[in-house]
Amino acid sequence: MKIICIGRNYAEHAKELNNPLPKEPVFFLKPDTCLIQKNQPFFYPDFSNEIHFETEIVVRINKIGKHIQRKFAHTYYSEIGIGIDFTARDLQQKCKEKGLPWEIAKAFDNAAPISKFVDISKFDNIQNINFHLDINGKTVQNGNTADMIFKVDEIIEYVSKFITLKIGDLIFTGTPAGVGPVKIGDKLEAFIEDDFLLKVDIR
Ligand code: MG
Repeated sequence: MKIICIGRNYAEHAKELNNPLPKEPVFFLKPDTCLIQKNQPFFYPDFSNEIHFETEIVVRINKIGKHIQRKFAHTYYSEIGIGIDFTARDLQQKCKEKGLPWEIAKAFDNAAPISKFVDISKFDNIQNINFHLDINGKTVQNGNTADMIFKVDEIIEYVSKFITLKIGDLIFTGTPAGVGPVKIGDKLEAFIEDDFLLKVDIR
């Protein structure tokens, strides 16, 4: 399986990192070695001094597809979860300055903790879902999927022009504003609406 991550999909977040708003979705990949599941801890890597959290709604693909039209995209997923797109911001900044790819900043081991998944039938509209992240009991990031620049079905249409989507692939749909650093000892807790779905201890 592969993990597809959308960048700059919330205007306020693009602004906080001084990035222009994209005219088409921006995406990058993480390998399956990024996954952390079952609330396992994250071990702070020695190659970065600035690991940032980015809290994102994650869509799981349930059917193989290529060139998926937007109107059919909703038939390619039935579950969502929440995940953290861990980013070595110091390394990413250097990559950006040199125009290099982002893998060392985004695709390192354990850079994608994910929650269990919940059926979308639980929600009236997946483009109107609140989610938030608490660190050590204090809310640090708050989003609503209504604020996505590119909606889930547009993302699936766009990505599947280039890459075949397969069962079990995950799409990280972008982070709202409020990203920031984590430090050893922090306890991250992520929620969809009021449901506590993901815990990540930083060690
Ligand atoms: Mg992200």
